Amino acid sequence: MKARTLLVVDDSPTIRALVKDAVTAGGLFSNILEADDGIEALKIFFKNKIDFVVTDVMMPKVDGYKFIAAIKESAGGKDIPVIILSGSRKEVIDKIKGLNIGASDYLIKPFDSSELVARINVFLKIQELQNELKEKNMLLEKLSVTDELTGLYNRRYFYDYISMHVALAKRHDYHIGCLLIDIDRFKSINDTYGHDVGDKVLKGIAEIMAKKMREGEVLARFGGEEFIICLCRADNDGAIRAAERMRMAVEDANLSDDNTPPLKITISVGIAIYPQQGLENSDDIIKAADEALYHAKRTGRNKVMVYSESMVSSKDQKEVLYGEKNL
Ligand code: GH3
Ligand code: MG
Ligand code: MG
Repeated sequence: MKARTLLVVDDSPTIRALVKDAVTAGGLFSNILEADDGIEALKIFFKNKIDFVVTDVMMPKVDGYKFIAAIKESAGGKDIPVIILSGSRKEVIDKIKGLNIGASDYLIKPFDSSELVARINVFLKIQELQNELKEKNMLLEKLSVTDELTGLYNRRYFYDYISMHVALAKRHDYHIGCLLIDIDRFKSINDTYGHDVGDKVLKGIAEIMAKKMREGEVLARFGGEEFIICLCRADNDGAIRAAERMRMAVEDANLSDDNTPPLKITISVGIAIYPQQGLENSDDIIKAADEALYHAKRTGRNKVMVYSESMVSSKDQKEVLYGEKNL
């Protein structure tokens, strides 16, 4: 039997015993707690993890309606099914009142045991389906932000993340570092060893970099053989250190295994720091990091370069290098 707790609330011990007997025979709950008025019921409800409530309405002190209203207003109580047991003659009016404040169902005393069990079963089933749906939604949410091959965040997530931080950085006046990372000569790995080995290398590099991540840093696969990192509250030197950490980790890695030949892989990294003249939004920042990456590629690969405004105008002047940090 699934571990589940029922709370039975009624000022009559006889009714509580009838409910207990019915649900015990039905094998629905592993644990049953009892209260004889609304105050006691609230105490028990907030002290224990209750999965289901069956409650009377006419009780001394706090009545059933007030009890239900209180638990339905609480964060943990709003999804918990409640069945009302009532001895009232004003059936329809009370039923509407009970359902309006959040009860799931309503039974008139004297109730039929098998009907109570059947109705509880309906709501347990609904609850189970709702939980499954919640889990599936969580999984979908995770899949929608995850890159399938590497398990890293995907490009879409990264855009949302960096855009949010650009807005925050504007307001709270802090720096953001964007590191655009591209594997050097990756095409030749595919061409020499095949696409499967290429995929393995991508996964391996993702894993190596993920292990080197620190708090406040987010790593994503930007597409193809490109990765991207957002650093919050990172200045120029901090961003260069983070990029070098990644570059060296990849350079030192041994990616061979039984089926993969020993490979020497390197990466180039372009860095852009925000705020900076000419960079207004996340698109500008990523474009600037791409510009720096382009310069890193043009000037030898396996290196880190920081974006500066002069890079844009120097794009066609092959011999002039700007912003290079030889570390
Ligand atoms: P550079 O140093 O200039 O970056 O050279 P490169 O060869 O890495 O760059 P290029 O852009 O010419 O080639 C990138 C290659 O990455 C081409 C493409 O087939 C490969 N690629 C992109 N995505 C994947 C993938 O998911 N799996 C594999 N195996 N290869 C991929
Ligand atoms: Mg590329
Ligand atoms: Mg490349």
